[in-house]
Amino acid sequence: MSDNQVTVAIDGPASSGKSTVAKRIADELNLIYVDSGAMYRTITYVVLEKGIDLSDQDSIMRELNQVSIEFEKTADGQLVYCNGQDVTDEIRQNDVTNAVSAVSAHPKVRAELVERQRNLSQKQPTIMDGRDIGTVVFPDANVKVFLVASVDQRAERRFKENTLKGIESDLSKLKQEISARDYKDSTREVSPLTKASDAIEIDTTSLSIDEVVEKITAIILGKHPELLK
Ligand code: C5P
Repeated sequence: MSDNQVTVAIDGPASSGKSTVAKRIADELNLIYVDSGAMYRTITYVVLEKGIDLSDQDSIMRELNQVSIEFEKTADGQLVYCNGQDVTDEIRQNDVTNAVSAVSAHPKVRAELVERQRNLSQKQPTIMDGRDIGTVVFPDANVKVFLVASVDQRAERRFKENTLKGIESDLSKLKQEISARDYKDSTREVSPLTKASDAIEIDTTSLSIDEVVEKITAIILGKHPELLK
């Protein structure tokens, strides 16, 4: 990756605020925002719809090879399309959330989606959020941030988000589910969730979204002042 190409990697555990801040920064600095988690969620949605066994990597790959995943930026936020169908809301439902770690642990699924993630950012200034962006997808990213927050705080945020979206949830169950997803994502063999050695860690537990956005924007502009033009 050339020094001129702006690539910002935002990694961290579930509900640490990655996508909220990444979207805001993308708007402010005119970067392409890529939600890598939405790609793992989309193939998981297809797998559940078709009743495929979550442990059957080869069948999952047969589906993934037929699936196009596209993003569209609209006034109402970013939409996610699976073979032309809008699946933005479907991929946030609890059944997908609780199955996605099993699907994303398959090495072939990861290899395919990592390639698509790299293609999406080619030659465009990009901010991408996920679990392995700074370690695997863009090990040469010029800005790497690792967001962390307490499980309690993350469960509360997810609870509020779900309520706003009309998704029913139970706070203590959310806490358990978030911890379980963190555990699976951090202990899988391929590309586990881990902080890149050169990433800047920000604990968002007691910070507002504005404060996190401000901190990361300052880091990016420190390296790429041209983005303000
Ligand atoms: O970011 P989000 O919570 O939507 O991600 C959903 C799931 O997708 C994660 O729990 C993880 O299993 C998987 N994921 C991943 N690598 C990424 C992004 C997401 O394994 N880069």
